Amino acid sequence: MKSTKRWISLLLSVLLLGSVMVMASAESTVPAQPEHIWEQTVEKATTKADGLVTSVCSLCGETKTQVVAQVESIELSQADAVYDGKKHVPQVIVTDTAGKTLKKGTDFKVKYSGGCKKLGVYTITVTLIGNYSGGKKLTFKIVPAAPTKLKANSANQKVTLTWQKVAGATGYVIYSASKKNGTYRKLAETAKTTWTSKKYKPGKTMYFKVKAVCEAENQSVESALSKAAGVKVALPNTVYVTRTGTKFHLATCESLRDSKIAISLQDAKQRGYSACSRCIG
Ligand SMILES: [Zn+2]
Ligand SMILES: [Zn+2]
Repeated sequence: MKSTKRWISLLLSVLLLGSVMVMASAESTVPAQPEHIWEQTVEKATTKADGLVTSVCSLCGETKTQVVAQVESIELSQADAVYDGKKHVPQVIVTDTAGKTLKKGTDFKVKYSGGCKKLGVYTITVTLIGNYSGGKKLTFKIVPAAPTKLKANSANQKVTLTWQKVAGATGYVIYSASKKNGTYRKLAETAKTTWTSKKYKPGKTMYFKVKAVCEAENQSVESALSKAAGVKVALPNTVYVTRTGTKFHLATCESLRDSKIAISLQDAKQRGYSACSRCIG
């Protein structure tokens, strides 16, 4: 028994010695000292200036610098989204003056306010991190859809518009122009899905567009304009004739100085009167 123990301890000693020798030989292939030990100091880039990464070797003093290009822009992939009951999360795009796109998580982080689901205005906070500092607050809107099926009809010199109800809208704004591709000016607001104008000059073609608005938590959002709807303004239901003339007129026509007889448009046409070129055109 004693001799067996001795043999085992001898064997263990040989194994131990062997492994120490292997470790020693492995160690001898590694250089005694690394060439350089770099220590970095970072002057962070901002939206106003370049940054600089300076590396100094603590062994030999060698110094290397690398410019971190200034942040050029912090933008959203889209400024707004049309409300559809779903969540909308725009991407944040950060670029530097060298044309590089910065990486989310490494160079910047993003915080979205609210759920970005309901109609309204949301703040997206971008914070620059890593080799960058500063940031920006961006605004993202969820807006109502533009009204569809806008129809314009005219009777008695007035125009009546109708359109389809827009989900989430609390009101509508009506715009008009005298040319289809002209400048549309704001005319009126309504909470309904129909609107009737004041009287226009008959025979004139008027164009209309409507947008939907939503008063959402003290910040209102609005849709894009609808497609245009045009209509020729209809003659008045009541026109005026004179004792001797063959024309029918609007109430304001100068030709009615001597006699002014009210008559329905239908009667005037049946009796052979035709439109006055001065007032009706
Ligand atoms: Zn060095
Ligand atoms: Zn006239």
